[in-house]
Amino acid sequence: MIPKRYACIFADRSSGAVYRFTVAVRPVIGVCLALLAVPVGYTVQSRWTSHAEIEQLRLQNARLELENSSYRITASELTNSIADLQDGLTELSSRLEVAALESPAFNKLPDSVRAASPASSIPEVAPTDTFDLLGGLLGSVDQRLQMIRHGVALREALSDATPNVWPADGWLSASYGYREDPFTGERDFHPAIDISSRRGQPVYATATGRVTKARRNGDYGNLIQIAHGFGLVTRYGHLADYAVEFGDTVKRGEVIGYVGSTGRATGSHVHYEVLVNGRTLNPLRLLPDTDAISAN
Ligand SMILES: [Zn+2]
Repeated sequence: MIPKRYACIFADRSSGAVYRFTVAVRPVIGVCLALLAVPVGYTVQSRWTSHAEIEQLRLQNARLELENSSYRITASELTNSIADLQDGLTELSSRLEVAALESPAFNKLPDSVRAASPASSIPEVAPTDTFDLLGGLLGSVDQRLQMIRHGVALREALSDATPNVWPADGWLSASYGYREDPFTGERDFHPAIDISSRRGQPVYATATGRVTKARRNGDYGNLIQIAHGFGLVTRYGHLADYAVEFGDTVKRGEVIGYVGSTGRATGSHVHYEVLVNGRTLNPLRLLPDTDAISAN
């Protein structure tokens, strides 16, 4: 058993003086333990803290790596999308240049026909972060691109379907509208233009389409009728002969028949009609303004 108190005696040899101290054991042990506890506690505490910090950093690092790789993937997808869009735009701009050459004629078509070219708008996006924003924008641009592509295709088709060339070489011998009937002399509505030409001269399709009539038809004589789509139809009357049959697909400028004077005609000419949704239109509205009539 450890005694509770100790006495320390110090003696001075030269003077013979004696000094005595009494020391209590428990407070001394307590103080020593307290002094020891400070560095030990500090070490344990700091080690524990740094371990937790390292763990946290490790987690943070892993999270950042994950985020980084997902950004890389997203960025590469976006790059691909942008490249696709750029390709699409390049292709479309060259197609638009071609379509623009034909536009003067189809701009003169009635609004009901031109309404087939759709107007488009960018739908609104509500992005929540940068990539959502970019992704949303690209989605919108892509959607708009598809709308434009569809619109361009329709404009190209409408351009092909617009009767914008002369059906034969020759001269204009009768205009569209009211006139004196060449047979009766009475006032009469002429729903076409007449182009006089030598018998046997070629007659050309004025736009791409499908032959819906190639037969004798009353006053028209030998008649060819072509449906071009978009409600557009052309008729070529008084032909001497046909170069196509019912059901044939023809391109603009293709020979479809030959000038004659069959049916109710005073001389060899082509009676040329343009119909839009079943109603006649002055064919001159769609033809280029030229002094000499030339189909080529
Ligand atoms: Zn006529």
